[in-house]
Amino acid sequence: MTKGKFRFNPETLSYEKIERSPRRILILLFSYLITVIVVGFAFMLTWLHFFPSSREKQLMDENKTLRNQYKSLNSRIGSLEKVVEDLSDRDNNIYRMVFESEPIPNSVRNGGFGGVNRYAEIESIPNMELVVKTNKRMDVLMKKIYIQSLSFDTIVDKAKNKQEMLQHIPGIQPLKTYKYVSGFGTRMHPIYKTLRTHTGIDLVAPTGTKIYATGDGVVTSAKFERGYGKAIVINHGYQYQSMYAHCSEILVHQGQKVKRGEVIGLVGNTGVSTGSHLHYEIIKGGQKVNPINYFLNDLSPSEFEEIRQISIQPNQSFD
Ligand SMILES: [Zn+2]
Repeated sequence: MTKGKFRFNPETLSYEKIERSPRRILILLFSYLITVIVVGFAFMLTWLHFFPSSREKQLMDENKTLRNQYKSLNSRIGSLEKVVEDLSDRDNNIYRMVFESEPIPNSVRNGGFGGVNRYAEIESIPNMELVVKTNKRMDVLMKKIYIQSLSFDTIVDKAKNKQEMLQHIPGIQPLKTYKYVSGFGTRMHPIYKTLRTHTGIDLVAPTGTKIYATGDGVVTSAKFERGYGKAIVINHGYQYQSMYAHCSEILVHQGQKVKRGEVIGLVGNTGVSTGSHLHYEIIKGGQKVNPINYFLNDLSPSEFEEIRQISIQPNQSFD
C-alpha cells in the first residue's frame, strides 16, 4: 500500500486516494503554525509568571518596599492627625475661650477642597489608590495646620493685651517632676471600688515634694478637709480656682496673696488617699474642668499627647 490517505467510495466500491491540493496543504500548514504559536505563547506566559526574570523580580521587590513605605507613612500621618486634633481641641476649648474668641467651627477646620480632582491623572494608573489616599490625607492635614496657625496668630494678638489675666489663670504644672497616673473623668475609686467621677488629676511624687501655685491669686482655703486631707484652694479671679489636695504640709494661710510658681505646700498622703500624691483640680465658673488642658506653658505637643493618652485610660485613681 502506498502512503497517503484513502477514502472508501461506495459507488465504485473501492478505496480512492485523497489527493491534497497545494491550497489544502497550505491551509493545514498554516493552522499547525498558529497552534504552535498559541501553545508556545501560553507556555512562555506561564513560565514568566512562575519564573520572573531577575529584572522583574527586582521591580516586584521595589514595588513591595514602596507599598510598605506608603503604609508606614500613612500611620505616621495618623499620629500627626492626632496631634493636630489635640491642638485644635485645646485651641477651641481653652485658648479661644480664655481670650473670649468664638471657637472655629469644625466645618471650617475640616473643610474640603471641592472643585477639580487634582488626582485624576494618577488615579487612572492601576495600583495608585495608596498614593492617592496618602496625598489626600496630607492635603487635609496641611490645611488643618494652616487654619490652626492662623488661629494662633489671632490668639497671640489678643494675648498681648491680656498679660494681667494670663498671669492669673492656672497655666503651669503644680509639680516639677511627677508620675502622671490618673486623669480627669470616670475612674474606679481606690477605696470604695466603685466608678466615680474623678474631678481632678493625680500626680504621684514623694512626700515632701514642693507644690507650686499655678497662677496668681488669693488663698481662699488652707485647712484639713474630709476626703481631701490637707487642702489648699486658690481663687485666681476671672472665674478660675485651683485646688491642691492630700498635702503633708500647707505653707500658706487663708487670705494670703500668692504668685504663680510660689511654693504653697508639700505633697503628702492625708485624707482618703492610697499613696503619696497630689490631687489637683481646676474649677472654672463653678465647674470642674480637665487640668491637663491648662498645662499650657510647659508641655510640648508630644508630651501633651503622652499624658493625654494616660488621661483617657480607664484606670483607678489615687483620689
Ligand atoms: Zn485624685
